[in-house]
Amino acid sequence: MVRLHDVHKSFGQIEVLKGISFEVMKGEVICIIGPSGSGKSTLIRCINALVPINSGSITVEGQEVNDAALDKLALRRKVGMVFQQYNLFPHKTALQNIMMAPIHVLKQDRSEVEARARALIKKVRLEGKEDAYPGELSGGQQQRVAIARSLAMRPDLMLFDEVTAALDPETVKEVLVTIRELAGEGMTCILVTHEMGFARELANHIYFTDQGVIVEHGSPQEILDHPREARTKAFLEQVL
Ligand code: ATP
Ligand code: MG
Repeated sequence: MVRLHDVHKSFGQIEVLKGISFEVMKGEVICIIGPSGSGKSTLIRCINALVPINSGSITVEGQEVNDAALDKLALRRKVGMVFQQYNLFPHKTALQNIMMAPIHVLKQDRSEVEARARALIKKVRLEGKEDAYPGELSGGQQQRVAIARSLAMRPDLMLFDEVTAALDPETVKEVLVTIRELAGEGMTCILVTHEMGFARELANHIYFTDQGVIVEHGSPQEILDHPREARTKAFLEQVL
């Protein structure tokens, strides 16, 4: 479903991604872990063409993402993304935030969009918060609105970039529950996370990155319990 082959990305003189290759099958959950600055966010942003790559190839459902002729809107309909900062529209309610893109970007019928948005609010367990503004919601609640907003586009793939990193410990769990349910329904997910317990539980495969390369990858047991590389061991000692 997603295939990266020898992806290179530089910002000016600095090469941030130095030949990244991996594949994600439909319904799989993969986690990307690694130290700060290793290129995880850049990698995720390349997959939905927020960042152009210098060389290599990224395909989503067979479509080359790095193609100048790419229909970025079509790609972003297929690929949902949730960031650490939820960036909700502050002057729109939770429900309105979820409804915006389907109405204004996809030009879908308002009443159908609203029915779906209400169903999504339930799905992320925010029933009763439909009319709340972002400022009236906790960080975890806002992040779940952001997830629902992505799901409103009916993506085939979800990208999560440290979506719990800015949250209080108490609200991390409710966001993880939402992601766990999505994964359980077969949503293909690529997650950058510092939550190792979560990676262990959900990931089909973990990639450990450092300084722009994949140092090693394998099952959660292989990477978290029996890392082979010194860099992986050193990283895990810090985070586990
Ligand atoms: P963190 O765990 O802190 O989120 P990360 O692994 O996500 O780190 P990236 O955000 O991908 O790392 O950054 C990798 C490197 O690329 C860093 O050195 C960063 O300064 C640099 N970088 C990222 N985006 C840009 C940009 N738009 N312009 C210039 N340099 C950038
Ligand atoms: Mg990052």
